[in-house]
Amino acid sequence: MTIVPPPNQKTIQSVCVYCGSRNGNKPYFTDTAQHLGTMIAEDGLNLVYGAGSIGLMGITARAAIQAGGNVIGIIPEHLNDIEITQEGLSELHITQNMHQRKKMMFDRSDAFIVLPGGLGTLDETLEIMTWAQLSLHQKPVILINLNNYWSPLLELIDHIIDDGFASSDNRNILQVVESAEAAVKLLKVSPASQATSKSELF
Ligand code: AMP
Repeated sequence: MTIVPPPNQKTIQSVCVYCGSRNGNKPYFTDTAQHLGTMIAEDGLNLVYGAGSIGLMGITARAAIQAGGNVIGIIPEHLNDIEITQEGLSELHITQNMHQRKKMMFDRSDAFIVLPGGLGTLDETLEIMTWAQLSLHQKPVILINLNNYWSPLLELIDHIIDDGFASSDNRNILQVVESAEAAVKLLKVSPASQATSKSELF
């Protein structure tokens, strides 16, 4: 079934995927990354990511490239060797540092999807959430809670809210789905934010 967004609504063109620089140790991690990359490309969305060829990052990017997608990689100079920049990217941007990378990934994207990953993925996810909390942007952030991988994070966020250290509004920053397919379906019906992002304040 094709989902068509309401008329006159600015649609999402570019999606940033945050995910692991490792594969994880269960086959569904890599399967889902592959599926997500393919669907992003088949839906005509630009994929923005950290430019590496390793882990779920590389799997997502290669799947999107193979499906004919437009893939934009952004990597800091010092990680060029460590994360082994993916070949065949439509655009490759090399930044001086991590902060420039994260800001450029933000600026080039209308929405964010989070796959399973490690500390870097967690950092990127929490940062995009805290920027939303500070009203610096209103771009959708979709978390793929694959086989409950991210449930401990969701429980921690609930705990923080329950003990009075964050507003209950923060429960709404992440849109939680369970599969790559559900994430892309949600993107297709989410309007692109009309609000001006204040990324100069990042
Ligand atoms: P990981 O989830 O740790 O495998 O890392 C996923 C991606 O996040 C990799 O491209 C890392 O370079 C990146 N990353 C790692 N640490 C950070 C950080 N502190 N801030 C932003 N990105 C990071």
